[in-house]
Amino acid sequence: STHAEVDVPTLGRVELPVGLFIDNTWRPASTGSTFSTVNPATGESLLSIAHASSEDVDAAVKSARLAFKTTWGNNVHAAERGAALNRLADLMERDKDRLAAVESLNSGKGIRMARDSDVADSIGCLRYYAGLADKFHGQTIPHYGTEKFVYTVHQPIGVCGQIIPWNYPLLMWAWKVAPALAAGCCVIMKPSELTPLTALMLCDLAKEAGIPSGVMSTLPGLGSTTGDAIARHMDIDKIAFTGSVVTGRKISVAAAESNLKKVTLELGGKSPIMVFDSAHVEKAADWTAMGIWFNSGQDCCAGSRVYVQDGVYEEFAAALKKRAEATGIGMPSDDKTSFGPLISEVQRDKVMTYIEGGKEQGARVVTGGKRWAKSDGGFWVEPTILADVHDEMTCVKEEIFGPVIALSRFTSESEALERANSTTYGLAAAVFTRDTQQAMRMSAALDAGTVWVNQYALIHPGAPFGGFKQSGVGRELGTYGLEAYTQVKAVHHNL
Ligand code: NAD
Repeated sequence: STHAEVDVPTLGRVELPVGLFIDNTWRPASTGSTFSTVNPATGESLLSIAHASSEDVDAAVKSARLAFKTTWGNNVHAAERGAALNRLADLMERDKDRLAAVESLNSGKGIRMARDSDVADSIGCLRYYAGLADKFHGQTIPHYGTEKFVYTVHQPIGVCGQIIPWNYPLLMWAWKVAPALAAGCCVIMKPSELTPLTALMLCDLAKEAGIPSGVMSTLPGLGSTTGDAIARHMDIDKIAFTGSVVTGRKISVAAAESNLKKVTLELGGKSPIMVFDSAHVEKAADWTAMGIWFNSGQDCCAGSRVYVQDGVYEEFAAALKKRAEATGIGMPSDDKTSFGPLISEVQRDKVMTYIEGGKEQGARVVTGGKRWAKSDGGFWVEPTILADVHDEMTCVKEEIFGPVIALSRFTSESEALERANSTTYGLAAAVFTRDTQQAMRMSAALDAGTVWVNQYALIHPGAPFGGFKQSGVGRELGTYGLEAYTQVKAVHHNL
């Protein structure tokens, strides 16, 4: 069946879609296969979800191709595509409490964060691209004399596969769907098997917003089956992916081995934060706490390596400890909660292994380091600070994707820079200093797609986001994010 009932805190018993969304209608998987999605705060099973097969991927691609040729793409004025995105954003505003409650239940994030951050920022992203849709133009390039010239046009790439992770299910959906639809592409969306519920709810809203059949199909399923079928499909023109480096590599290979579809990858990170002696220590601690404990550390740009200059090391460590012990850990349905469980048992065990490994390699646990004792089931780990770490330790080198800070001291600016850059990742970095010259030098020299100065984790839909080195390929957000769903054509004219 395509719909089922579930108890959602703050909403009561509600019916939610659990099927595949193709041709603007719900259907079960062609094979009848399902998988189950779990409440991470309790470990209890929530709902059985249709598991899309490769035949289902074929059906969605056919529907998308037809829409691209007839009712979307170049057949619809960019301003109309923008208007459709704005109508969808209006419907998300209308349903924001419902979306936030389900997002919180399925991902474990506090309901207030889900509403005020995830839902609100997703709406913001839709509205940004709604406005940008008809403001992205080509160039005119003079040739020799006045008779000959070249103009460029940006045309939508076509049918795009979009594969997203579980840490920000709604926001990653918005980052993918909004620029693609604004550019005129049709999408096949595969949400994470861990958090499919809100992406499915958005299908009905997209239909209500008047987005034509075939423009946005949604295929829940596992990575190795549904995801792989999307990555290898011969009639998908581009794949946009957010997730781990390991999966990003597999998707690149699948794209190369099939039709050389274009690839955008947003991958992991091990982002450094540097706190210099001249920094405002209390403010630096506030931002660092947000940088690592927001979303329980399950953030691709989590500031997980923190380097503090000798003069303020002890003061900073004490300030950070205070914040760790006041993160607001609690049940996601409680409005006061700002720190929830990790997404799964696998993730919880992985994070605990990094903490144990850090201790064995000589790290000092300043606070946390344990599973949360007050929880009744679920996948909880306390906010954790590992101090006095060395750069060779596994907890400093590898992405943990959990609420764990690796804290160490440095002496000189050149040392901080070298250590910050000595990683295969390059997603983000931050510098806390009141010396503007120093901030400028560091911003120029850091190998990272995003640099924050005296702040952390702020994202703006107009600012490009993506990775240097193995943190990714291409950029999302801003005009760069729209351009990534277009291909440019140079037309040479001779009058
Ligand atoms: P993951 O790579 O396991 O899964 C991400 C998505 O890929 C899921 O939808 C999954 O089903 C799918 N997938 C898995 N194997 C696949 C395959 N072989 N072919 C096609 N699709 C496949 O990652 P995750 O565990 O869900 O997310 C955590 C990781 O994502 C972290 O490493 C984190 O840094 C990264 N991440 C990065 C960003 C960013 O913007 N750079 C944002 C969020 C998360």
